[in-house]
Amino acid sequence: MGPQRAKLLESEVGITTFRDLLYYFPYKHIDRSRLYYIHELTADMPFVQIKGQILSFEEEGTGRKRRLIAHFTDGHGVVDLVWFQAGTFKWVRRSYPAGKQFIVFGRPGVFNGRINIAHPDIDPADSLQLGAMGLQPYYNTTEKMKRGGLNSRSLERFTRTLFEKLQGTTMPETLPQSIIDRLLLVPLPQSLHDLHYPASADALRRATYRQKFEELFFIQLGILRYARLRQQQVRGHVFARVGSLFNTFYQHHLPFSLTEAQKRVIREMHRDMCSGRQMNRLLQGDVGSGKTLVALMTMLIALDNNYQACLMAPTEILAEQHFVTFKEFLKDLPVRVELLTGAVKGKKRRAGILQGLSSGEIGILIGTHAVLEDNVQFKNLGLVVIDEQHRFGVAQRARLWKKGPSAAYGAPGTFEGTVPPHVLVMTATPIPRTLAMTLYGDLDVSVIDQLPPGRKPIETRHFWEERSESLYRGIRSEIEKGRQVYIVYPLIQESEKMDIQDLENGYEVFCRAFPDLKISKVHGRMKSAEKDAEMERFVKGETQILVATTVIEVGVNVPNASVMVIMNAERFGLAQLHQLRGRVGRGADQSYCILVTKYKLSQETRQRIQIMCETTDGFEIAEADLRFRGPGDLEGTQQSGMAFDLHIANIARDGQLVQLARDIAGEVLDADPGQNLPENAPMWRRLRELNRDNVDWSNIS
Ligand code: ADP
Ligand code: MG
Repeated sequence: MGPQRAKLLESEVGITTFRDLLYYFPYKHIDRSRLYYIHELTADMPFVQIKGQILSFEEEGTGRKRRLIAHFTDGHGVVDLVWFQAGTFKWVRRSYPAGKQFIVFGRPGVFNGRINIAHPDIDPADSLQLGAMGLQPYYNTTEKMKRGGLNSRSLERFTRTLFEKLQGTTMPETLPQSIIDRLLLVPLPQSLHDLHYPASADALRRATYRQKFEELFFIQLGILRYARLRQQQVRGHVFARVGSLFNTFYQHHLPFSLTEAQKRVIREMHRDMCSGRQMNRLLQGDVGSGKTLVALMTMLIALDNNYQACLMAPTEILAEQHFVTFKEFLKDLPVRVELLTGAVKGKKRRAGILQGLSSGEIGILIGTHAVLEDNVQFKNLGLVVIDEQHRFGVAQRARLWKKGPSAAYGAPGTFEGTVPPHVLVMTATPIPRTLAMTLYGDLDVSVIDQLPPGRKPIETRHFWEERSESLYRGIRSEIEKGRQVYIVYPLIQESEKMDIQDLENGYEVFCRAFPDLKISKVHGRMKSAEKDAEMERFVKGETQILVATTVIEVGVNVPNASVMVIMNAERFGLAQLHQLRGRVGRGADQSYCILVTKYKLSQETRQRIQIMCETTDGFEIAEADLRFRGPGDLEGTQQSGMAFDLHIANIARDGQLVQLARDIAGEVLDADPGQNLPENAPMWRRLRELNRDNVDWSNIS
C-alpha cells in the first residue's frame, strides 16, 4: 500500500507490521456460501444473501420518517430495500443503478406486512465469487480510514495478500506442544488464518477458542510468575505471638461475637503473618460485613508483636470515622491511636504525632494520603491496611511499603534486603472472581461472605419521579419513628455544574416539603471543613435528612439512618447503587432503599433497577454489572493501574477460560520454575515480548 494509507493504518488502528495485521481480527463474518430466493425469505432469518437487480426507486414519508425504497427482484419475487438517512439517498441511487446485477446482504424485517431489508450491504455481482468465498471477514475501520480509502474491503485485500505470502513459510508456535495436545488446540498458524478466513463456522469457533485461551493464558502466566517471584523473595515480619492486646480485646471488650466468616478471615491473615513472607491480601466483603473490625483485630496482632500499624482511608470523613470507631473500641486498652489527615492542623499537634510515630509511642495511625508524606516516619511499621482499595492507585500502595523499617528498597524486580510491612487491602466493591483473578492476581483473596446476625435485608423499591407525594409520606413516617434519611443526587464529572444545580433544586424542594425538619446539605464543591461540619450534624442526629451528592458513597456509618433515597437512579451504575444502598441497613431496624427514576427508561436501565429490587447480594450484583458493562467500565479497574488490552477474550463471558488459563499457567510454572525447559522456550519468549508491549509486571509493587 502507499505511504498515505500506511500512515492511516498506523495512526488509526496501530498496525505497522505484518504481525499487527495478522492479529487485527475481523469483528464478524458473513456467510457468502448460500444464496436465498426472495420467496424463501422470512422475517425471523438472522441474515440472508440474495442476487438480482433493482427495478425502481421510490421515496416515501416526510421529515424524520423519510425513506428511500428500492424494489429488488431475483426473478422469483420482489423485496424492498430501505434506507432511512436522507443524506445518503443520492449516493445510493447513483451507486446502485437499476438493471445492474447485485448481491444484497442484510437482515430481513417486516414493515406494513411486507418483508424488507433495511440498510443492506450491496456488492456488484461480478465482484464476488460466491461459494468460493465462504465466510467473508468484516474489519473495524474508523471514519477517518474510510475517508482515506481504507474500508473493510481494503483490509480484506491486505490480509488475503498476506496469507498468500505466508504460504510455505513456517510460523513458530507460542504455546508448548503439551498444552496444545491436551486442550486439542488448533496450531497457531491455522488459528490465525481461520480467524480471518475460516472454512466453516466450526473452524472459526476453534480458532477463536485457541486465541482466547492464549490471550488469557499469557496474562495469567505473567501475573503468577510475578506473584511467585515476590513470594520467594519478599521476606515478611513474623507475628508469631497472639498476645494480651488481642486476647483482652477479644475476650473482654468485643461488644458482640464475631461472625464465622470474620473468624476465618482473621485466621487466614494470621497464618500469612506467621509465614515469614510478606502478606499481600485482598479482603472482600460486602458493605456492612464488618471489615473494619477485622482490620482492627489484625492490627492488634501486629501491636502484640511490638510493631506499629497504619490504616489509610480514601477521604477525610472516612478516616475520621474510623478514628472515632477505633477510639471507642480501644478505649480501655493501652493503645495510642492517632489521626493524621490534611485537616489535622497546628504545628505543635502535627509535630507531636510525627514524634510519637518515630518513637513508637503511637501504636495505630489512621489517616488519608497525608500519611504518605515523606516526613511521616514510623519506628517499626509492621502492617498497613488500605480501606476501599479502588480509590488508591498501585503506586500509592508501593509508597506505603517503603515506610517499613528499612527504607532502602531494591531495584524494581528485586526484593532483596528489605522487610516491608504486611499489606491488607479492603474493598467493599465486590469483584467477580474472574476479574479479581486478573486484576489482583498478585494478591491472595479473603472473603467475608456473611453479614452480622440480626440485620434485616434492606427493602428496595422503585418510584417514578411523578409519585413524590407517596415518597414524602414514606419519608415522614420513618422520621416519625425517629430515623434519619439520606437523599442522594448523582454527580457526573462532565456536567458538575448541572449536577450541583440538581442538588440545590432538590434541597429546596425537600425544605419546602418538610418545613418542620432540619435538613443538611453536602457536596464535593464545599470546603472540607464546612462539609465535615454538616456531616457531623447528621451523624450526631441534629438533622433528620441529609441531601448529598455521592461524596457519601464510601463508608459513612450512621446506624440510625434507615432510608436511602437515590434520585435520578437511572444515571448510576449497579456497583454505585449497591454502595449507596449499603449506607443504610446498619442497625437492627427495617431499612429501605428508594430508587427514583423518570418514567421512560431504556431496557438496560429497567433491568438494572430490577436487579437492585430483587437482590442485596453484592456478588450477584457485581456479576450482573460485569455482564452489562464489560470489565473495562467497572469502577476501579481503570485506576488499578493494570488495564489489559483484551483483543478477543472477554472476562465477563469467558470466565471459565480464565480459570482454565490460570490453572494451566500454574502447572507450567510448577514444572518449569527456572524457565529452562526447551519445549517452553518459545512461550517464555512470547511472554517477554508481550510484557514489553503491555504491562511490565516486574515493576508493579
Ligand atoms: P464494612 O466496613 O465491612 O462495610 P463495618 O466494619 O463498618 O462494615 O461494620 C458495619 C457495622 O457492623 C459496624 O457498626 C460494626 O460495629 C458492626 N459489626 C461488625 N461486626 C459485627 C458482628 N460480628 N456482629 C455485630 N455487629 C458487627
Ligand atoms: Mg468500611
